[in-house]
Amino acid sequence: MNKLLEVSDLAVAFGDVSAVRGVSFAVEAGESLAIVGESGSGKSLSSLAVLGLLPPQARVTAGSIRFDGRDLLSRTDDELRRLRGEELAIIFQDPLSALNPSLTVGYQIGEVFRRRRGLGRAEARQKAIEAMTEVGIPDAAARAGNYPHEFSGGMRQRVMIAMAMALQPRLLIADEPTTALDVTVQAQILRLLRQRQEAGLALIIISHDLGVVARTAQSVVVMYAGRAVESGTVADLFSAPAHPYTRGLMAASPSARDAERTVRPIDGYPPDITSPPSGCAFHPRCPFAQERCRTEEPALRTVSPGRTSACHFAEEVVTHDESLATRA
Ligand code: SF4
Ligand code: MG
Repeated sequence: MNKLLEVSDLAVAFGDVSAVRGVSFAVEAGESLAIVGESGSGKSLSSLAVLGLLPPQARVTAGSIRFDGRDLLSRTDDELRRLRGEELAIIFQDPLSALNPSLTVGYQIGEVFRRRRGLGRAEARQKAIEAMTEVGIPDAAARAGNYPHEFSGGMRQRVMIAMAMALQPRLLIADEPTTALDVTVQAQILRLLRQRQEAGLALIIISHDLGVVARTAQSVVVMYAGRAVESGTVADLFSAPAHPYTRGLMAASPSARDAERTVRPIDGYPPDITSPPSGCAFHPRCPFAQERCRTEEPALRTVSPGRTSACHFAEEVVTHDESLATRA
């Protein structure tokens, strides 16, 4: 059966520079998929391509994006605009920049109903209050009259979720939705997204934080330098990563590990995508790297059912003892 969203071999370029190369992922109604990586890995671009929201200099150069069996890449801008909100929606890290500071939040959420559903002002306001209540904003009727700056960061993110969910889209992409929030509020927002997903929403969560992924997603795609380097279920990845970069992310994530272990950041920096390293793009930072890794780019291959890795030595990495992975 086809999944609700199916992205296959997607490639995105800025002029001559490949920013995303051959990335595939899929998500079904009621499922949650995480796309993980450092900044510049291409994780945001991959999802912006789905929504037809790539920056003007960027374009899709290969691959396909199918939503509910329909080809999204052949849609006109108008058709995509109509789909956004109605069927696909996105929320970002910084709700303040996405909200108009001079309009009340009730008005801004109500605008969705006025514009898209042709509701009158009073009716739209009522719908806005309902939408705010649904995402757990207390005393929504009174809060609808407040301006964005009168809300805390967590409440503002709830406002964005209310707005994104107003027209009951089938797919929500959440791009670093909790990065700006403290840990307690982060957990509340993730719980809210999870409830939505359990109620039938297809959710894509984009994050650099494996702790967030562990709490929200069922499956994961790990991206590095514009490529998918590992994919699988959350349970498989967390119990035994099959790519050294995933191992590194786990070691670097305080919330993905048990408390008594020390957090160890990955050595080095993400590569410059205008001149990526030869062979395996991760080799300059990889504690497992061998001579072959400098010259031969590893293909993404199936290493066990439901599991892919783009590492020449994936099988050894999976079974590798943690204590040996420090030899870099
Ligand atoms: Fe490391 Fe080589 Fe695997 Fe790349 S292919 S992740 S450099 S071991
Ligand atoms: Mg990003």
